[in-house]
Amino acid sequence: MIIHYGYEDNSGKFYVSINGFKCDNCGICLEKCPEKILGETVIMIELDDKKVAAVKEEFRKELKYTCAKCSREKEPCRTSCPKKAIAVSYEPKGT
Ligand code: SF4
Ligand code: SF4
Repeated sequence: MIIHYGYEDNSGKFYVSINGFKCDNCGICLEKCPEKILGETVIMIELDDKKVAAVKEEFRKELKYTCAKCSREKEPCRTSCPKKAIAVSYEPKGT
C-alpha cells in the first residue's frame, strides 16, 4: 500500500508518498527532514496494524512550500531511507 500525501493544482504537483509495505518505522526520515513535517501513522496491512512514516496532517496542504528547498538538496527524506520507502514528486509548472 502506497499512501500519497499532497496535492495537484494549477501551480503543479506536490506529493510525498510512503510505501507502507517497505517502511519499518525506523524514524530516520523524521530526523532528516529539515522542515520536521514527517511523523507517524498507523495503517492496516494484511489485517494487522502497522506504524509507518507519514506527512503530519497540518503540512499536507503545504508541501509546495515546505519541500521547496529540499527538492534542490536531493530530498533527505528519500535519500536517507534505508528501505527506499519514500518518493517525492515535486513538479512546479513552468520549470
Ligand atoms: S526512513 Fe524509510 S523506513 Fe524509516 S521511517 Fe522513514 S520511510 Fe519508514
Ligand atoms: S522533501 Fe524535504 S521537506 Fe519534504 S518531506 Fe522530504 S525532507 Fe521533508
